[in-house]
Amino acid sequence: MKIRAAVASSIESGFEFEELELAAPAADEILVKVEACGVCHTDVSARAHMQMPAVLGHEGTGKVVARGSAVTDVNVGDTVIMSYGWCGQCGNCASGHAYTCERGVEGSIGGRRFDGSSTIMRGGEPVSGAFFQQSSFASHALCPARDAVVVPADLPPELRAALPCGVMTGAGAVLNVFALAAGETLAVFGTGAVGLSAVMAAQLAGARIIVAVDVHAGRLELAQRLGATHVLDARDTDVAAQLRAICPVGFDYSLETSSNEDAFRAATGCLAMRGTCGLVTIPHGGQPFPFSPFELMVKGARLQGIMLGAATPRSFLPQLIGYYQQGKFPLDALITTYPFPEINTAFGDAKRGSALKPVLLMGD
Ligand SMILES: [Zn+2]
Ligand SMILES: [Zn+2]
Repeated sequence: MKIRAAVASSIESGFEFEELELAAPAADEILVKVEACGVCHTDVSARAHMQMPAVLGHEGTGKVVARGSAVTDVNVGDTVIMSYGWCGQCGNCASGHAYTCERGVEGSIGGRRFDGSSTIMRGGEPVSGAFFQQSSFASHALCPARDAVVVPADLPPELRAALPCGVMTGAGAVLNVFALAAGETLAVFGTGAVGLSAVMAAQLAGARIIVAVDVHAGRLELAQRLGATHVLDARDTDVAAQLRAICPVGFDYSLETSSNEDAFRAATGCLAMRGTCGLVTIPHGGQPFPFSPFELMVKGARLQGIMLGAATPRSFLPQLIGYYQQGKFPLDALITTYPFPEINTAFGDAKRGSALKPVLLMGD
């Protein structure tokens, strides 16, 4: 079928709209009419590792309009959120840890289905598609049914699209990986969508102290509204000393979301005995972070890499939606919507930091 898609033709380029051809659903796939898709830094950073041109977009949501012959658990007419791709066959997928699928990177940025076939063509030639097994910057997307989460149709599309990547990562770090308990303490470095989701999750879990550290005054103010008990401007304070003053025994958990070397140092340095520092980003330019093994060792502390919030979307996304509906997870505070044709403005605003979680609305 013909689709209208936003195409990235090089690592640096903006998006241009084109009419392309989308394959028919494979036996295990659904065809989704995309209603909204979140905008994420990964749509920019992944390009360096992909063949161009590409149809990106990996936080899509919409209505199922067709399904392959083997699909039984998702129906035509269902409203779904498309989450990350997983092969369904490796040991980690089989044991319920699909967020660490052995073929996860290939399935996300390989530009093809897991069986090597292409989903999107331009004049008969394949372009990189199947981005996170969806490529949702388009009017329609194909996605393996196992990646789709059926959700209530009355939940606004921008809320659905905000969930499956950064928000799931930040909230999942706190609820799934740290399993933060009431009365425990957390320091969050960076207050983008991931960091603020961690703040909201820590508040709903009953954290006693939640410190947010950033350089954007507006975001720190928002962090406070979303549950941070303390905020620190990293530019005009000795962050390590302030953290010691706030929590002299150290923090049970810290979360580094900012890709900043000083933040990494503070995040590992502020831990309590047996504390855990979670990492959800890599440093700018891929440089190694400085790291003091001694400090971690004497504390019996832990550095923990976190992929996709260690979340199983079919259980975790409905859980987050429930919290939102109960008023405990006010995710709408992070969202700015843009009509699909304004995709380049949305990426510009995300880069400048004037939009925390841009979401594109595809319209009709
Ligand atoms: Zn993302
Ligand atoms: Zn797998």
